[in-house]
Amino acid sequence: MEDGTLIEALAAIVGPEQVLTADGDTAPYLGDWRGRYRGAALCVVRPGSTAEVAAVVRACGAAGAPIVPQGGNTSHCGASIPDLTGRAVLVSLSRMNAIRAVDAANNTITVEAGCVLQNVQEAAEAAGRLFPLSLAAEGSCQIGGNLATNAGGVQVLRYGNARELTLGLEVVLPDGEVWDGLRGLRKDNTGYDLKQLFIGSEGTLGIITAAVLKLFPLPRATATAWLAIDSAHTAVRLLSELQAAFGTALTACELVSDVSLGLVLKNIRGARAPLADSPWHLLVELSGPGEDAALRESLERFLESALEAGEIADAVVAQSSEQAGQLWTLRESVSEAQKIEGVSIKHDISVPVSRIGEFLDRAGAALQAAYPGIRIVAFGHVGDGNLHYNQSKPEAGENAAFIAAQPQVNRIVHDIVHDLGGSISAEHGIGQLKREEILRYKSRVEMDMMRAVKQALDPRGMMNPGKVL
Ligand code: FAD
Repeated sequence: MEDGTLIEALAAIVGPEQVLTADGDTAPYLGDWRGRYRGAALCVVRPGSTAEVAAVVRACGAAGAPIVPQGGNTSHCGASIPDLTGRAVLVSLSRMNAIRAVDAANNTITVEAGCVLQNVQEAAEAAGRLFPLSLAAEGSCQIGGNLATNAGGVQVLRYGNARELTLGLEVVLPDGEVWDGLRGLRKDNTGYDLKQLFIGSEGTLGIITAAVLKLFPLPRATATAWLAIDSAHTAVRLLSELQAAFGTALTACELVSDVSLGLVLKNIRGARAPLADSPWHLLVELSGPGEDAALRESLERFLESALEAGEIADAVVAQSSEQAGQLWTLRESVSEAQKIEGVSIKHDISVPVSRIGEFLDRAGAALQAAYPGIRIVAFGHVGDGNLHYNQSKPEAGENAAFIAAQPQVNRIVHDIVHDLGGSISAEHGIGQLKREEILRYKSRVEMDMMRAVKQALDPRGMMNPGKVL
C-alpha cells in the first residue's frame, strides 16, 4: 500500500483531523522529555475508541507499517519515540481518556488508556478512594503508559508497582483483535495471567486501551518529615526501624543526596533547604486512618528517639499539608533541576535494599576514580531498593566529552549493580536506551523466553520495533 493510501485509510477510520502529518503538528510527538531522542513518523493518529484503535492496527498491518504507541511521552529511555525511517505510524492514546466506571464496593476503577494519571487519582478521590500510583510526571503521563512501563513511583513501598495495582486489561493485539480482559477480580486462577505480559512490555506486544485498577481506602491522616542523615547505610537502618514501628502506615521513604538537593535549591525557583547541610536526606511519609495530629505525634516521638540515639542529625516534621507539599516538591524536582543543569547520564537501578549502602560506596568510588569531579545525583525510593543514580558533568567539564563517556560510565555502574544481584532498570524500562545493555546482564534463557513471547504475539515485529528487544 502507498503511504498516501494508508493515510487515507486511517483518516477514514478516525476522521481526517485526527491524522496529523504536518511537521508542526507531529513535532511534539517525535521528541522525548529529556531531549535525547528524535524520530520520524508517516503520521500521528489519534483514535477515540477501542474499535478505532483496532481498525488502525489492522490498516497498519495491511500496509506493513510499524506502530509506535504513545501515552504522555514522559519516557526516560526513548521508548515512545519512533526511529528515523519515517515508516512508523505513531498511535497517540490521548483522546481515549474516559473514566468508564468506579465500583466503590469492589474498590476498582475502570479507565481508558489515555487518562492522565492525575485525573485517575482525582476520580478515585471523588469516590472517597485512593489510587496510589504517584510519580513526578503524574500531570502528563497516562495510565496506558504507566502500565506499559510497569511504573513505580513514591508509594510502591506500601501499595506496589503498576503491576500490583492492575486487575484487568483491554488490549488491541498486533493483528487487530481485541482482548477483553477487563475483569475486576482479586482471585482468578483460570490459566496464564495474560495481563502481566502486557504490563511492562513497552508497547511491543499490543496496545493497552483500558484497565481495571485497584482502589484503596483514602487515608485520613498523613505525617511527613524531612531527616538529615549521614549515609545511605543509616537510611536503610532507619527504614527497618520505621517499618517495625509503623508497619504498613509507612507509605514513602525517599533518599535524597546533598548534590541532588543542591541542584534543586540552585535551579528550582522558590525551593528552600528545610535543614542545615547534610550529606544525605530522607523524606518519610506515614499515612492511615485517624487524625493528622496523632500520626504526627507518633512520628515526632520516633524521631526524638532517633535524634537522642544519634541516628539522625536533625529532622523537621511538616505541620500542615502546605509544608508537606514543599518537602515533596524538593524530592519531586530533582529530575527537573538536573535537566535545567544540563546533560546527564541516567541510571535507574535496583539492588536488594540491604545492599544500597554498599552499592553507593562502590559505584561512587569507582566513578570518582575514573572521572574526577563527576557529580553524582543519587535519589529515589530507598524502600524499594531503587535509586535514580544519575551523573552530571564536573562543573568545569565539557558536555560532549561527558556524553561520550556514557558507555564507560554505564559499564562501571551496571557491572556493580549486576554483581550485587540488582537490575539495570527498576522503573523506566528498556526502550532504546538499554536495549543492547540488557543483553550483557540477562541470561540467554531469559532473552530466548522474551523473544518467544514476542514471536508468538507479534510474529511480524510490527509493534514498537527497536524497543526492548
Ligand atoms: P510514554 O512515555 O508515552 O510511553 C512509554 C512506553 O509505553 C513506550 O514504550 C510506549 O510505546 C508505551 N505505551 C504508552 N502507552 C501505551 C499503551 N496505551 N499501550 C501500550 N503501550 C503503550 N517512572 C516511574 O516508574 N517512576 C517514577 O517515579 C518516575 N518519575 C518520573 C519523573 C519525571 C519528571 C518524568 C519525566 C518521568 C518519570 N518516570 C517515572 C518515567 C515515566 O513517567 C513513566 O515511564 C511513565 O509510566 C510513562 O508514561 P507515559 O504515558 O508518558 O508513557
